[in-house]
Amino acid sequence: MRLGIHIPLKGGFPANLMRVKEYGCETIQLFAGNPTGWKMAPPNLPEIEKRVALAREQSIYPLVIHCAYLVNLATTSPEFYEKSVRLLNDTMERASLHRAPFVVLHTGNHGGAGVERGLNQIIRTISGIYPEWPGGVKLLLENTAGSGTALGSSFEELARVLQAFPAGTLGVCLDTAHGWAAGYDFGSADGVKELLERFDKIIGLEKLCLLHLNDSRVGRGSRVDRHEHIGRGRIGLEGFRELLRQPWPEEMPAILETPEIGSDWDRQNLETLRRLLE
Ligand SMILES: [Zn+2]
Ligand SMILES: [Zn+2]
Repeated sequence: MRLGIHIPLKGGFPANLMRVKEYGCETIQLFAGNPTGWKMAPPNLPEIEKRVALAREQSIYPLVIHCAYLVNLATTSPEFYEKSVRLLNDTMERASLHRAPFVVLHTGNHGGAGVERGLNQIIRTISGIYPEWPGGVKLLLENTAGSGTALGSSFEELARVLQAFPAGTLGVCLDTAHGWAAGYDFGSADGVKELLERFDKIIGLEKLCLLHLNDSRVGRGSRVDRHEHIGRGRIGLEGFRELLRQPWPEEMPAILETPEIGSDWDRQNLETLRRLLE
């Protein structure tokens, strides 16, 4: 397992990478552009090559790109739909330039159209665009907390989308805070064992490509997305210990998206995880 952290845009890539390297980071996640904007600036190729070289030199891998939050493949608005598809395609291209094998996407919001219509629209959309995506980059659907009309909070909904594609086309990013908010018991050793068995049965553990390790500020099943520092929230250390001690593939990335990213909390949260792995 390779532990890492989401790095902020603020401060720049090289400084952030060197900072988290000092904490013992082995992998990082980043936004390819403004996470709350529709437009991605044209790629600065020399800058990207420098990033790739620095990450390689510091043995930080894999690089994971997180899609902008605005992308919603299940939207009912034609305007947002068109923008979402364009930005997702641009993000896949940008990930390829970064030699990032994974792009993380929140599954989407159906906006009142209903779960079935939403999931079908996502499947139809990805079917139409994935053949054009660059090789070597896989789209990972992230489980959601299930607030409002969010899709993908259950393993069943994620499986519906994944099963519509040939094996290896899509993967899953499993976020502990979102799963907890959606009702999965990440808080106890038995709960973690049981939910991983369910994941394996419904989706298949071989499709799990990335973990997002976040504690939660809210109660289990509250369907609210509030991240907390590891061991400081309602999930607690017991569940994280069990999760980390599973027989994961050696290079399985596990990335923190805890509050106050960029502060000394990054070091503290990583230390907590490393202690649990010992
Ligand atoms: Zn996440
Ligand atoms: Zn979240």
